[in-house]
Amino acid sequence: MLELDASQIQMGRVAANKDEALAMLGDALASAGLATAAYLEGLRAREAQGSTFLGQGIAIPHGTPQTRDQVLRTGVCLIQFPAGVDWGNGQLVHLAIAIAAQSDEHLHLLQLLTRALGEGDLSQALREAREPAQILELLQGAPQALALDGQLVALGQPAEDFDELLWQGARLLRQAGCASSGFALGLARGEPLPLGDGLWWLHSEASVERPGLAFVTPAQPLSFRGEALRGLFCLASQGEAHRQALERLCDVLIGGRAAAFSEASDSRQVIEALGGEVPPDWPSLALPLLNAHGLHARPAKVLSELAQGFAGEIRVRLQGDAGAGVSAKSLSRLLALGARRGQMLEFSAEPGIADAALPALRAALEAGLGETVEPLHEEASAPAAPVQAAPVAPLAGSSLQAVAASPGIAIGPALVRTPPVFTFAERGQGGDHERSRLDEALRSVAAQLQRLVDGAGVASIREIFSAHLAMLADPALREDVEARLATGASAEAAWQQEVEDAARRQEALHDPLLAERAADLRDIGNRVLAHLCGVELPGEPSEPYILVMSEVGPSDVAALDRQRVAGIVTARGGATAHSAIIARALGIPALVGAGDGMLALAQGTPLLLDGDSGLLRVAPAAAERDQALREREQAQRRREQAHAERLQAAQTRDGLRVEVAANIGASGETAEAVELGADAVGLLRTELVFMEHAQAPDQAAQEREYRRVLDALDGRPLVVRTLDVGGDKPLPYWPMPAEENPFLGVRGIRLSLQRPEILETQLRALLASADGRPLRIMFPMVGAVEEWRAARDMVQRLRAEIEVADLQLGIMIEVPSAALLAPVLAREVDFFSIGTNDLTQYCLAIDRGHPTLSAQADGLHPAVLRLIEMTATAAHAEGKWVGVCGELASDRLAVPLLVGLGVDELSVTPRSIALVKARVRELDSQQARALAARALTLDSAGAVRALVAEMH
Ligand code: PEP
Ligand code: MG
Repeated sequence: MLELDASQIQMGRVAANKDEALAMLGDALASAGLATAAYLEGLRAREAQGSTFLGQGIAIPHGTPQTRDQVLRTGVCLIQFPAGVDWGNGQLVHLAIAIAAQSDEHLHLLQLLTRALGEGDLSQALREAREPAQILELLQGAPQALALDGQLVALGQPAEDFDELLWQGARLLRQAGCASSGFALGLARGEPLPLGDGLWWLHSEASVERPGLAFVTPAQPLSFRGEALRGLFCLASQGEAHRQALERLCDVLIGGRAAAFSEASDSRQVIEALGGEVPPDWPSLALPLLNAHGLHARPAKVLSELAQGFAGEIRVRLQGDAGAGVSAKSLSRLLALGARRGQMLEFSAEPGIADAALPALRAALEAGLGETVEPLHEEASAPAAPVQAAPVAPLAGSSLQAVAASPGIAIGPALVRTPPVFTFAERGQGGDHERSRLDEALRSVAAQLQRLVDGAGVASIREIFSAHLAMLADPALREDVEARLATGASAEAAWQQEVEDAARRQEALHDPLLAERAADLRDIGNRVLAHLCGVELPGEPSEPYILVMSEVGPSDVAALDRQRVAGIVTARGGATAHSAIIARALGIPALVGAGDGMLALAQGTPLLLDGDSGLLRVAPAAAERDQALREREQAQRRREQAHAERLQAAQTRDGLRVEVAANIGASGETAEAVELGADAVGLLRTELVFMEHAQAPDQAAQEREYRRVLDALDGRPLVVRTLDVGGDKPLPYWPMPAEENPFLGVRGIRLSLQRPEILETQLRALLASADGRPLRIMFPMVGAVEEWRAARDMVQRLRAEIEVADLQLGIMIEVPSAALLAPVLAREVDFFSIGTNDLTQYCLAIDRGHPTLSAQADGLHPAVLRLIEMTATAAHAEGKWVGVCGELASDRLAVPLLVGLGVDELSVTPRSIALVKARVRELDSQQARALAARALTLDSAGAVRALVAEMH
């Protein structure tokens, strides 16, 4: 975000020429820690390509794409030159704003900055300013204009009373970005003011984002408090922006022309009467922007110069935006559009010049506005939509590979459930009636969800349904539904449409984790619809069965009777979906992503699924089935035995102790992990703590979470990983530039070191929460010794302030370079914890989430085992301990090898603790060592698996 403060501004400087000014700016960026000294070359190269003069005495020097890697942190430095600096062509600059920004942020900065500039010429005021505060005022002081345009006027709306009109006005303001949720309530609490002639006025200052005025009229005349109700003005009030419109409104009413509003048949009439901006009725043309970095300074300049060549006005706006747009001749206005590649620009030109101007604009945009551009993919190669063949059911006797989502073997007849069909009328029987039906449905579903929360024996399920309850009560969702009800929609139509819109918005976030939350929204959506439509969601057969669905909503899984549902197969979905998490928590074997063919299976087709390997057999032969049943029985016996001994230590037959710890993401999971036999928490993924907050949690909030874990551990050690986010798993409140390859980009410790204040707060919270209990802190994704040292030094500095009695510092070994450097690192760290999930992906160069390759990303590959061996040997040579906290640690076949390679601690999902402990107890450490040594000589993961399976 562009945040200007006085410390960024140098006043009263003198530069003989532009180059000297650039050197001063480069220096300022470097001393502010925003860019390296080499960034100056970027500033110079950029000016050589074209001047960055913006107009109004302002220039905005910035680097080239080639020098972006010299940017350390996004920010700006401002220098005032009262005597002016010639920026070329006699253009005098009094304020230079040097920008250090990477890729997309650049455009956003420009957009914010140029929006701050008013229409008048600032150059004199900038030259004469004496204090930084005056410059700030000039740049930030532009008052927000009142939004008043076509999208804020709705005439002839179906409404039965004052309240319905009010909801509609509030909704218009919300949709235009003038108000957020809570505004409608504020409006409803206001005192309606009669303006005469059936016109009413309401305003609120609560939840206003920017000032705006909406006007709504009912389809048929209504009355309110004994007077006519022909139209309602709703004002989102902020500052003085509305004063002019209000004065115009009074003039119109005093002049006896209220009919301009109450009888208006077209929104233009209303806007014109209020003095708002009406888009001109000129010839227009919509064109896509092709430039890779959007309409940034260089192409914008080419565009403005082209427009200036015509002796008439040319306006431009982003397609879909309201209002008349901005002048295409103004560079600052063009930048303020913030247009990105692929967005449509709508040009309109005065009729006298349109014939010449519009084709010239088309040609210039297609040619790239001075830059080399690629056509948009959709245009270049939009293939004919593939003809969707009806899915074909897999044949009896066949096997297919799906994604393993929850372990265990399940056998049973298929119960294929297709999504419920709801039929309902679009129009309702009046706002009050529909509202009370919806209220009743919401109350009943809330009670259902509360029962699920209360009855859930597992913390993760409780949390999911608590989140569903919160979604159900979301005031923004309710407000939008209210607005639809106010237009006469039925409760079902209003609810379904809003839930679907919200789910689509969620999916559009292009973040797999957030997108999967769309399934949660649809899930609560269906619950409410089923209630409203009186649809009984289908019951289950009495025999234990395998549930087959397209995607399984969390409530589907949790509502299942575990005695009767043997397993779950979904046609779609990923292993991180909530349904998969719930299936794991409930211990129901599950496969996901088995393909749409599954939905075409005949009901009752026998299925055999293996939730460990991901293999599904359709109508298996009797021998296969019997074998699987025997294996399952053995596994069941093993599990029961292991569970009974879960609280005992894991020791090999010859007395080697291996610590078995838990991987957890939320502080609330600790007690359960201890109950399931955890000797420690071996990996607390703190990013989940951060993801649960709308903003980065402060020290106190974090301390509460960490104390909760340490309290529940009751003296057992806690290994915490510092925040591990980045391009692959961004935090919503920590926007990051898109990276072409986020797994190789700014993630883990790299990101933390770029934002040291966040790391420092986290470390302070950790140290402060320890209170003498054993705390181990480790840093994720360390690939270079300097990264470890920088992080360690920060802890040492804080230790001088906050006393900690029992602290160890270590790193995760997830990057091959760290494993290869383990002999060096081991001298400095207290421990290593090997993250085999990432170590495997980086060692084998296979994206861990790749839809087709990830099955080959096997941590038992001898290349990965060699890295583990090097790490363990290096650690022990320095007397340090080493753990494994990736998924490999809970793999039954991997345990003997990891123990044989010298791993001291295995950290696994809580449900696997007992089994891993049991597996350790079966081993002899000498034999395990010999087995590991042989595995290291093999040539593939398959050969290693075969070796271990044979010894079994
Ligand atoms: C790993 O990479 O093995 C690991 C434990 O970290 P994460 O899965 O959270 O990336
Ligand atoms: Mg990792």
